[in-house]
Amino acid sequence: MTSLRRFDHVPEAMLKATSIELEQILGGPALFYLDGARKPPLFITVLQHGNEPTGFEAVQQILEKYQATGLPRAVWLFVANVSGAAKGKRMLDSQSDYNRAWPGTTNPETVEAALMREVVDTVTAEPLFASVDLHNNTGSNPHYGCVNELAPQYLQLATLFARTVVYFKQPVGVQSLAMARHCPAVTLECGQAGEHAALSHAADFLDACLHLHHLPDQQVASHDISILHSCGGKNAPRCYLRF
Ligand SMILES: [Zn+2]
Repeated sequence: MTSLRRFDHVPEAMLKATSIELEQILGGPALFYLDGARKPPLFITVLQHGNEPTGFEAVQQILEKYQATGLPRAVWLFVANVSGAAKGKRMLDSQSDYNRAWPGTTNPETVEAALMREVVDTVTAEPLFASVDLHNNTGSNPHYGCVNELAPQYLQLATLFARTVVYFKQPVGVQSLAMARHCPAVTLECGQAGEHAALSHAADFLDACLHLHHLPDQQVASHDISILHSCGGKNAPRCYLRF
């Protein structure tokens, strides 16, 4: 039994809340199933790191936009580290990093690993359209997506966000690495928390995903993509390791 909360609707208070207030509203990490016109659902993960609120704020914009009409596509939404967010911290001292705790992690005995297993088991019980995990990074890096597979649909999903795509297999325990076994998956580095450009880019991307009929199964044209390979070891550029 983990601390995962389940919802099939969005509490009104969540639409206007800051990420700092979510723990009070939700009571812990929360998984939402929100119905929409198309199936299968898009899986969206936000706030794995409590001080990276852009993904959550983008989701708020989307939920508000479709509050009256309903979502264009069903969504699984995982609002992850709300206790880290309450303190404005990447994670609490008592926690292990949420984004190193997904299936495949080197440390499967932690409460965080049990939580991620429950999330994955739940959302993969039926087919998924795609999986998107949103982060902020520090410094003025360009926005980019990270993939763990080079199959066309994974790269199509990533280049819907940015031309620059980072490919990695290490570190393990990362959300997109775990989800890539089930559906096209991407980790998004949206730029700095609090930036308007970061928020609007993330919200536009989610909106586009919700409207996509399918992910094209053809290679991305070479002039539309720039793939960087990250070994993810100690020598990898720091910015690649923030996810
Ligand atoms: Zn992060």
